[in-house]
Parts: sequence; structure tokens; C-alpha cells
Amino acid sequence: MTPHDKLFIPGPVEVSEKTWAAFSRPMIGHRGEDFKNLYRAIYPGLQTLFGTKQPVFLSTSSAWGVMEASIRNLVDRGVLCCMCGAFSDKWFDVAKRCGKNAEPLQVDWGKHIDQKAIDRQLATGRFDTVTLIHNETSTGVMNPLPEICCTLAKYPDAALVLDTVSSFSGVKIDMDALGIDVMLTGAQKALALPPGFSLFSVSEKAFARAEKIPNRGFYFDFLEFKKQQTEWMTPSTPSIAHMHALQSKLDEMFQEGLDARFARHARTNALVHEWVRRTGFEFFAEEGFRSKTLTCVKNNKGIDVLELARKLREKHHLVIDPGYGKIRGKTFRLSNMGDETEETVGHLLSCLDDVL
Ligand SMILES: *Cc1c(COP(=O)(O)O)cnc(C)c1O
Repeated sequence: MTPHDKLFIPGPVEVSEKTWAAFSRPMIGHRGEDFKNLYRAIYPGLQTLFGTKQPVFLSTSSAWGVMEASIRNLVDRGVLCCMCGAFSDKWFDVAKRCGKNAEPLQVDWGKHIDQKAIDRQLATGRFDTVTLIHNETSTGVMNPLPEICCTLAKYPDAALVLDTVSSFSGVKIDMDALGIDVMLTGAQKALALPPGFSLFSVSEKAFARAEKIPNRGFYFDFLEFKKQQTEWMTPSTPSIAHMHALQSKLDEMFQEGLDARFARHARTNALVHEWVRRTGFEFFAEEGFRSKTLTCVKNNKGIDVLELARKLREKHHLVIDPGYGKIRGKTFRLSNMGDETEETVGHLLSCLDDVL
């Protein structure tokens, strides 16, 4: 058997045999007791992971579905889009395409979003919604969430929509304690599930807002999700295979322990950081704001990044990302999300040494 190419790109990441086995369990109907029991079974674990007492919803879409839905469900007066990389930049574009009054709060790629800048913008009274990406996957920047949430707390009329797609379950994020109004994540990043599914939770404040927003549509209507969840259902037929895989993954997570899981991500991330320093590379993200789940390495040595990625794949069957969008080739990204351990990340780094 030829070995498959193992993904160390920041999503999708490697999916374990165990998860695939759960993903291919026999199908069940989505309007019967088996389904309700499945949703009920995964629910407490999901609430714990989100750090919330609010309902947690299952969306059969990639994360962008919920990112767009948040705009459509919440934005009335205007949305302030915090932009610091490819995903957060795109969110601004999505808000405009939804016909909303959107304004950018933009910093250079590699820099973080400063709470003081948000404060100045919200003080104008022009915005009722803020979009923020916790972990900007394109640049490897992790934004200072507690500080930003403290600032948001001064503006009870403003709702915070937080994308935790590439940090969720890799670092601790307590939705209720932080006062987050919509928290969303995707399946294929730190959760290490196949792509095509996402999870989100919505605060009371955000539900109340949605009630006043017309034309929310159906597929992504937060109030429809809320109504259906009380009966352990989803508005439309969800990807039941993803729910089986999620159930298996939650079992694994709680067996490992969440704190141990966060600590494992911190350790594997530190290994990558040591490697970057030892090999004379630099970090693309500014110091103090670097992601714990992936590393965006700056190609200060001027190597041929595409060639590096090609050789690593051919010789070692490992796949890394040669940089996203406008920083392709000028950076490369190494993920330590999901099931990776010191051993597997150590292996990646020694294979990189070999190829370099
Ligand atoms: C991957 C990613 C997304 C997009 O996820 P899709 O599954 O492509 O919708 C959004 N935000 C962040 C931070 C990401 O890393």
C-alpha cells in the first residue's frame, strides 16, 4: 500500500482512521429518535467546548455559510469588519455583497487588531456589529481576545461575531465569559473532521437582534435553528456522518481532557517555533500575537518555497502550505492542529530539515 500524503496545512488537516470509522457508521433518519438522541448526546460536550449555556447549532455548510449568515441575521445599522489577513479581509467583501453598510478596520498583514482602534470606531455610534477573526489563519496572527472583549463590553448595543475556525478546541475560548454574541467554527481545522460542516452558538442579545432583521432567509436563519434545536432537530437534513464523527471526536477530547488538549497544542506549537529560530527563519506574525495552532513562517532566507513543499511531499508524503494569497512563496505555513503530537510534529520538522 502506498502511504497517503499527510496534511500539515492549516486546514483541512489529517483525519484519523478512528474518525473515518465513525464518519461511515450506518445512516439514520434525521426526524427520528435516533437523531434526537445523537444531537442530545453531543450537546453537553459542545456547550463545554464553547464555554456557553446558549444553544449550540450544527450547520451543514463550511464556515463561510455561518460567517455570511451572521451578517444577514445581525447587521442593521452597520458592521465594522476587523481586517488583518485573507479571511478577515474577505469577510468585509461578504458583508458588502449582502448589501450591508460595512466599514473596514484594517491593519497590515502580520499585525494584530488593537482594541483601542475598535473603541474609537464604536464610539462613533455607526456600528451595531463587529466581525473579528480570532486566529487569522493566513498570517498566523492570534488577536487579543480578552482585551477586545473588554472594549466591546462598553458598547452593549454592538454584537461581536467571532470566527474561531482555526483556534476552536486548540485554545480555550469561553464564549459566555467573554461576552461573544456569535461564535462559529468549522470542522476541518483543529477539530480534525472532514470539511463541509460547522458549529456555532448565538447569545440572547443576538437572537433579539435577529428578530428585528427582515429577510434572513431560511437555510441560515438563526431563529429557525433555535426553534428546531428545542426539539433536537436541525432546519434541514444535516450531514449526519459529521455528527457521528463529531461524537467520536468529543469522546476522544474529553478522554484526553480539554486542558491537556490545549497544553498539547501549545507544546507542538512551541516545537515549531524552536525550529523556526534554529533554522534562521523568521515569523510572519508580530511577536506577542502568534497563533498557537499554526505557524506562518516568513521566507526571509529567500528559498524556493514551492520546491520545498514539492520535495517534502514527494520524498516524505507530508503536505505543507506554501503561503496564502498575496504572501504565497514569501511565507509557508505549518499546522499543529488536531491530533498532532510532539512525535508527529517532530517528524515533520526533521523531514523539513532533510529536504532543506
Ligand atoms: C479555513 C477558515 C475559514 C473558511 O472556512 P471554510 O471551511 O472554507 O468555509 C474561515 N475563517 C478562518 C479563520 C479559517 O481558517
